[in-house]
Amino acid sequence: MITKQPPSKASTSAPISVTELRALLNGRVIAPGDPAYDQARTVFAGYIDRRPMAIIRVRDAGDVARVISIARDNGLELAVRSGGHSSAGHSVSQGGIVLDLAEMRGLEIDPKARTAWAETGLTAGEYTVAAGAHGLATGFGDTASVGIGGITLGGGIGYLVRKHGLTIDSLLAAEVVTADGGLIYVDKASHADLFWAIRGGGGNFGVATRFKYQLHEVPSVLGGLLILPATPDVIAGFIAAADAAPGELSTIANVMKAPPMPFLPAEVHGKLVVMAMLVYAGDTAAGEKAVAPFRKLAAPLADMLKPMRYPEIYPPDEGGDGYHPVAAARTMFMDSIGRAEAELILERLQASNASMAVAQLRVLGGAMAQVPAEATAFAHRNSRIMVNLAALYNQPEEKATHEAWVSEFEAALRQDDAGVYVNFLGAEGEARVHAAYPGSTWERLAAVKGRYDPSNLFRLNQNIPPATDGHIH
Ligand SMILES: Cc1cc2nc3c(=O)[nH]c(=O)nc-3n(C[C@H](O)[C@H](O)[C@H](O)COP(=O)(O)OP(=O)(O)OC[C@H]3O[C@@H](n4cnc5c(N)ncnc54)[C@H](O)[C@@H]3O)c2cc1C
Repeated sequence: MITKQPPSKASTSAPISVTELRALLNGRVIAPGDPAYDQARTVFAGYIDRRPMAIIRVRDAGDVARVISIARDNGLELAVRSGGHSSAGHSVSQGGIVLDLAEMRGLEIDPKARTAWAETGLTAGEYTVAAGAHGLATGFGDTASVGIGGITLGGGIGYLVRKHGLTIDSLLAAEVVTADGGLIYVDKASHADLFWAIRGGGGNFGVATRFKYQLHEVPSVLGGLLILPATPDVIAGFIAAADAAPGELSTIANVMKAPPMPFLPAEVHGKLVVMAMLVYAGDTAAGEKAVAPFRKLAAPLADMLKPMRYPEIYPPDEGGDGYHPVAAARTMFMDSIGRAEAELILERLQASNASMAVAQLRVLGGAMAQVPAEATAFAHRNSRIMVNLAALYNQPEEKATHEAWVSEFEAALRQDDAGVYVNFLGAEGEARVHAAYPGSTWERLAAVKGRYDPSNLFRLNQNIPPATDGHIH
């Protein structure tokens, strides 16, 4: 299918030029000096400022294959970008090339079969709106602008996680261009080792050009924002209620100082609150029952829970293209959050002088935990609560203060679960990547990597170096 290959430059000393790139590729090549360059090299994370040799907006799988071959043959660092939300800055290279999938946004929905083939330049929001028009959904995360490429390859934990599992639990097949430039179809029967690896193993194995997803019937949800005063009892009660809730209900609770939102009384602004998003994916009457225990935890400061179409869960504007936060952040799993942990959370948040300090608590379980841990490369099926800690700040010289705050906070909360969800990892070093892929998961991934990317061309990611013999140990 992919026949046109660029000439090898391996034997010449001059690297490929931008003019040569333009001649070889169908997609747009954006290079230093182009008016679009600064915008094109910008990623979501405001603390990443890199200048690639070129950003290539690939047009099709053929382009993807050619860019891979060009990077390989010219020894250029290759960054792969879907939605550009990597907090580690993995979707932009300093001096290398960016393979940007933003213009590959095709989507074919088969409402009868309840499946969709999606090109990986789509965002979670675009996919969700299109599927929602049929009363169907695949679960992604809490943010519409996240790319389906990155979130899917790392696992995908969102508003449907307890009802329909991780995003990868709805992944039926994928088309992947591997390091040798070949386009392969992977599913449970074809390249099963690779299909296992890309469900959690990130961008280590090739560039996914299309995903085939299972769609679920989600005609409406009972969902929205519930804001409660943050006391130790409310936080502990919230966790207990989320854990006891039926699988239809998934929650994301941000404990933070209340921003000056117009619908909150002025005296609440700046006080610690629980800003929780609740999504009950099922019938409204049953949903009302499921959310009742949360409403009873304290008199809500705001209660915006209402029946809605699922895509409405994503606000129309999350800050826009110009929003590039700078943050010190850590992700972890916890086994339990009772009163003592809640007190600690409140005390640490109160102590931060960041422009915004937040502890995000996501009770897991439900459908996500019903898949065996070894069935995919996402190994944390039994983790109970995901916790994301973050301090957002404006002045670069404050970095050390907020980094120290977040790492001390993490250490204080740490319990027995030493795992970590790869998609929320920053550039935190090898030990943390191992924590994302513990034990035999790491060995299996390294073996698959050895077979599909033995020279580690795809290394600008949470990297799994290839095992040399390509065998599973
Ligand atoms: C504001 C925000 C909210 C988030 N919320 C959630 C959430 O609720 N749930 C959740 O699970 N995660 C969440 N995340 C984490 C998110 O899943 C990861 O950052 C993910 O990697 C972003 O995907 P992307 O395509 O936008 O990022 P990119 O930066 O484009 O990609 C990240 C990496 O993934 C790989 N990659 C991306 N696309 C491809 C592809 N097509 N082929 C091969 N490799 C590829 C590359 O290695 C790339 O460096 C959130 C992140 C942010 C910044």
